[in-house]
Amino acid sequence: MATLNRPHALLLPFPSQGHVNPMMQLSNILFSRGYYITFVNTEYIHDRMLKSESTNFKADFRFETIPDGIPPELSRTHNQLDEICKSLVDNCPAHLEKVVNKLKENPDVPPLTCIVYGSFMSWAQKTANRLGIPGIAFWTPSACGSYIYLSASLLVENGYIPLKDKSYLTNGYMEEEISCIPGMPLLRMKDVPSFFYDASRYIFEFLITQTQASMTADFMLINTFDELEEPVMQALRARFPVYGIGPLLEAEQQNGLSNSFASLWTEEKSCMQWLDDQELGSVVYVCFGSITVMSDQELVEFAWGLEGSKQPFLWVIRPDLIHGTSAKLPTEFVEKVKGRSFFASWAPQLEVLFHPSVGGFLTHSGWNSTLESICAGVPMICWPFFADQQINRTYVSQIWKIGIAMNDVVERREVEEMVKRLMIGKEAEEMKRRVGELRDASIRAVSKGGSSYNNLEKALLKMQGKNR
Ligand code: UDP
Repeated sequence: MATLNRPHALLLPFPSQGHVNPMMQLSNILFSRGYYITFVNTEYIHDRMLKSESTNFKADFRFETIPDGIPPELSRTHNQLDEICKSLVDNCPAHLEKVVNKLKENPDVPPLTCIVYGSFMSWAQKTANRLGIPGIAFWTPSACGSYIYLSASLLVENGYIPLKDKSYLTNGYMEEEISCIPGMPLLRMKDVPSFFYDASRYIFEFLITQTQASMTADFMLINTFDELEEPVMQALRARFPVYGIGPLLEAEQQNGLSNSFASLWTEEKSCMQWLDDQELGSVVYVCFGSITVMSDQELVEFAWGLEGSKQPFLWVIRPDLIHGTSAKLPTEFVEKVKGRSFFASWAPQLEVLFHPSVGGFLTHSGWNSTLESICAGVPMICWPFFADQQINRTYVSQIWKIGIAMNDVVERREVEEMVKRLMIGKEAEEMKRRVGELRDASIRAVSKGGSSYNNLEKALLKMQGKNR
């Protein structure tokens, strides 16, 4: 198709690794369906990706950047969340308008057909409205997580949030069941996105505003598949036009597309050779995603728990994993696990999870990590940090039964016992069998005629303003 006749999607992810990845995957799929792609990153994220040796940008995408308004030398961990979110709503809309105008003036670029914005970037809907084109909210968390965010007003009306004071975090209130959200079984206060009870007032209000605004989108996309989260998807569909089109990484594979990849860190590929030398299904992969931080004490408890389990493990320790300092493992521990451990600062996670030596995943339950583990058929231990990770833990352990829920307080004995349960014995086999079934279901969902495949077809029609 001649360039100028191609439909043109502008994609705008929230500026973090876990949001950019699925947005890249969606761009890859849209590109394969004839779309001209403009991918808009913040300058900081884009710069990090250009510097990483592992980024595999699609040469055919057009990249644009907007400033996030924060000095480049400051890190963007969750400690900066207030500043980042403030800047996103205060500065970025005007910069997005500039990008859109620049595209309009370029005679070699086809007119914009739609804007797809990530979770918490719903301010971009205004630009789509001004241009008279569809604005599409792409929710990158799980459907269960997204649904709770979208039900924030119900939680407020029913007096669950905001918490009256900090004592509610420890007085048993977090165990209380919540029944005001239809279609959500087993929901307790401790499952709702942690930002609703432990973030600043600013973040709380930011989330409420952004989720409300995303309800004005023409429609929503979620990186899940109907069969995985059916009751929640049904409840969502009763309130909004929403399509489950995932797992996008599986959809990429089914379409013969090489994984589009944008990484903030350079991957340590040498871990793959180490995995080649390990026994089938014996290795625990330990990784807490791109933003989680922990204390020195928590790191040490994980370390001794892994040591006690006697399983081989591959552990990703990001340079900024520990609060305000770099991670220091006890020398005695490092000595003891020599020969059955590999430490990396950033791993090629997808390749790792699909490697036959990997038999279990100790994860922070980020949605990408959870989906990747399902697609690879690997059971999990869940130690959530924030956002939708708490509800993901509950779904993994209690609804899908493909993993084990860890307590929030890390204790070496518990880590050791859980790793053993994850890797050896009847319970481990059962979890492996069930996650294998979900993996097969995910493949069916994105294959021709499957739920996600059909949903994508419907969404594509709407994206071009048809059936609006
Ligand atoms: N990831 C990776 N290598 C690592 C750690 C993480 O490639 O060493 C990728 C992982 O595959 C996933 C993303 O980073 O796609 C993390 O997203 P997730 O939603 O799991 O967690 P977040 O980082 O947003 O908390």
